[in-house]
Amino acid sequence: MQIVPQMPICQTDLPLDWYQEEFKPYAEEYLALPDRTPETVLPWMDGYLKPALDHFGDKLLLLAHYYMGGEIVKLVEHYGGKIADSYELALQARKNENAEFIVESAVHFMAESIATLARPDQQVFITNPRSGCTMEMFAKEHHIAPAFDDLYERYGDDMMVLAYMNTSGRVKALAGRTGGAVCTSGNAKAIMEWALAQGKKIFFVPDQHLGRVVCWWTGVPPEQQFQWKGGEEGARMGVTDLGPDDLKRLDDSRVVLWGSYCGVHTVFKPEMIDYWRDKGFKVLVHPECPVEVVQHADGAGSTKFLWQALLDSQPGDKLAIATEGHFVKNARDQAALKGVEIVHMADIPDNGSIGCGCATMSRNDPPHLVAMVDMIHKGNPPDINRVAVGDVVDETTGHRERLAHDEQDEVTQHARAALQRMVDITERARS
Ligand code: SF4
Repeated sequence: MQIVPQMPICQTDLPLDWYQEEFKPYAEEYLALPDRTPETVLPWMDGYLKPALDHFGDKLLLLAHYYMGGEIVKLVEHYGGKIADSYELALQARKNENAEFIVESAVHFMAESIATLARPDQQVFITNPRSGCTMEMFAKEHHIAPAFDDLYERYGDDMMVLAYMNTSGRVKALAGRTGGAVCTSGNAKAIMEWALAQGKKIFFVPDQHLGRVVCWWTGVPPEQQFQWKGGEEGARMGVTDLGPDDLKRLDDSRVVLWGSYCGVHTVFKPEMIDYWRDKGFKVLVHPECPVEVVQHADGAGSTKFLWQALLDSQPGDKLAIATEGHFVKNARDQAALKGVEIVHMADIPDNGSIGCGCATMSRNDPPHLVAMVDMIHKGNPPDINRVAVGDVVDETTGHRERLAHDEQDEVTQHARAALQRMVDITERARS
């Protein structure tokens, strides 16, 4: 990606009281800058980041997810960091053996996945601990565990958990304990095929839409899917409360779907596809969209798949993309440089719906990145930004509850087993 002169750096400034106390001096300096152009912002960032990067070299690794708001992805790339999807992010501690300090500008579950696969001497930090994923927030361990206990009592070891990457380490550990695996939108089909081949009932958490899409991809019809509720409702739902018909449907199902979802991806509708197709656009969607949208589109896949579509496009091509708004904006800017037109699929005049960005990811911005790196450089990174496996994060305050070391080790062991199964199946499928 390119930073070009006068390109705005961040679309919205956060209010000062959104920053943790230690970061406020950095935020005050940033907010006092006269504008958000690279010509102004980069020298300010250079003053902090360059000395730290010179000091640490490859011991310091900067990471961001494709969905980051504003131009932060370009800034992370500008300072030698890496932009990736959640699968690639999870592997970064392993792939960068020299990295001792890993600074992630994205959401908590991604940082925790990196920490799960990291060595004990590799420290992982998140630039804003209040950056959570709303889908994951309706699928915390305290929501899922009662449902899991009920299902386990009925089906025992004939059931396994498949946990989408958008889950906490504790939920991934649940998958690991049952012999299950983690999956991402890029490998969910291969992981589901692997799981179905074992003939067990699959408890798929947390995204009901991806769950339905993967069932469609792997030939599990709707009558073999059972929809559990999400969030608090899912926690209160019990097998013993089900009537005889629902109980039979549960017994007959091959996949039980937890009821969470991503608000960013559920605004899309099949009619939007027709609108853009009529205008000559090819329509590509993310599989967190409702299944009827995925079935109607010209193609569906992970953020990496969608970015690859941009890289493979030819001058004159037109693509309508249904995914997170900041990603589409960045893709549109890059595509314009090669004569390709990209639109956000929900951006249809008068359609009553708008394409939106992931608001929680956008809580990471230049002052958060600068403050985090500078405080690591000074040797006093705040503990609230330090990510350990099994942490329970309150996304409103950023406060984290931390497990004792022996409990942390146990969660890490099971969550790592589930992640490792994902890696093994994915790499096998690629070779
Ligand atoms: S876009 Fe949706 S699924 Fe992705 S991090 Fe944001 S809320 Fe979670």
